[in-house]
Amino acid sequence: MAAVTASSFPSQRWSELLDRLGGIARAHADVALASSLAAEDMVLTHAILDGGLPIEIFTLDTGRLNAETVAMIDRIAGRYGRAIGVVRPDPAAVEEYVAAHGPNAFYESVDLRKACCEIRKVAPLRRVLAGRSAWITGQRREQAVTRGELPLDEPDPVFGLHKYNPLALWTQEEVWAAIRALDILYNPLHDRGYPSIGCEPCTRAIRPGEDLRAGRWWWESSDSKECGLHAGNLSAIPVSVVTTKQPG
Ligand code: SF4
Repeated sequence: MAAVTASSFPSQRWSELLDRLGGIARAHADVALASSLAAEDMVLTHAILDGGLPIEIFTLDTGRLNAETVAMIDRIAGRYGRAIGVVRPDPAAVEEYVAAHGPNAFYESVDLRKACCEIRKVAPLRRVLAGRSAWITGQRREQAVTRGELPLDEPDPVFGLHKYNPLALWTQEEVWAAIRALDILYNPLHDRGYPSIGCEPCTRAIRPGEDLRAGRWWWESSDSKECGLHAGNLSAIPVSVVTTKQPG
């Protein structure tokens, strides 16, 4: 966990974030935050709900999330009095995949892993983004080799709308300083060595010094580690392996 204190959080960063989100909401009445319920997305969720911003929030419940992650949905409703949307995969597509390949076929090949992500994450996301003009993500540049050039906003050629990454320039220390300073809810898995949280069978805790996303699809190489939600990132990979700085 990042060694930061509430007092180390710069309030300027928070004002900039609120201004940026407010601008996005004014430009796109139909914009939505796609939340993974991990730390970055909880920072954005707090900014939106506490700040009363007219931005929809939804999460993708793949059916393979940790219980701690699923519990965040009710915790958010309890804290802010507003439920977030929950988007689920097509049950028939899931059934078909499991019948053909087994429940954990994603360990067998990158293709089968991507096929599972397509059914459980990408297709539901495509469905919920259809007809919108923009979406918001909690991606940050320092999270992974695939995100080193991440802009604050960009056209999204994968889903055909505009994508905003308002935390692109934030450090991990800033994310956690905001969480401490503003008493933002967070997934308890973060306290158990999970800086990045995804589906339960595809995410493990990381060891000191490991890349922040080393626990995601750990059996694959660093440069294939996107689930398809941010497939455009893969075109900007400068090198095959990068080590991301761990917080002090
Ligand atoms: S992260 Fe794993 S379980 Fe989740 S959708 Fe992708 S392959 Fe399937």
